[in-house]
Amino acid sequence: MNTHTVPDPVHRGHAHDVDLEDTFDFLNTDDTENGFPVDKLPTLDDALAWFVDRGVIHVEGANRVRAQMSSNDPLMARDLARVHAVRSALREVAHSIAEERAPDSGALETVNRALHARQVIELVPGPDGCYVDHRHVGDPVDDALARLADPLVMELTAGHPERIKVCASDTCEWIFYDASRTSRRRWCDMATCGNRAKAARHRARERAAAQGDATEATAWNAPEATSGGPETPFA
Ligand SMILES: [Zn+2]
Repeated sequence: MNTHTVPDPVHRGHAHDVDLEDTFDFLNTDDTENGFPVDKLPTLDDALAWFVDRGVIHVEGANRVRAQMSSNDPLMARDLARVHAVRSALREVAHSIAEERAPDSGALETVNRALHARQVIELVPGPDGCYVDHRHVGDPVDDALARLADPLVMELTAGHPERIKVCASDTCEWIFYDASRTSRRRWCDMATCGNRAKAARHRARERAAAQGDATEATAWNAPEATSGGPETPFA
């Protein structure tokens, strides 16, 4: 859902780092609205603008990619496909963590390939000591994807992977960090998906109550009671 606000992330690492909220925001650009897929990064230009906005790519890097792409459609399609592939692979990995199952091996390979393109962290001298800086070694898009994958790795290494959740609404699939005290949140957002689920359960209960007699009458072990009763599609 695009109307959701993501819960406050736990900020980690030094100033250059992308946090888990950015990663989940990236994953949730592959959105579902009312059960229909909606891609919030449909073009490479959208993706580059998003990367610049989140600070995972420098403006100059984005402009360099744009300049390279402007006259080369296949290259543009390839880069966009890479952004989408890494995003869906990361979604699969997040799902596997949330669902406590093994990830798809292809997805894992894609994520690992993306991680290899990460920036190089190095020390640089300062007037009063040393600072941590990062050096861009490869393609700016690869670098951006690696940086967006990184917080998920950090969460697995030193965080709370059990708090990585997928919204329980099957028309939502929003990936979120459950910062609640009990870590038992099921919905990305109680005001939208949580309430919708509650309303759906309420409607189902009312329907069941209204059809109570008919449902009982059509049960498999009471066929004699169906004579004269209303037909149900599941009978
Ligand atoms: Zn949701």
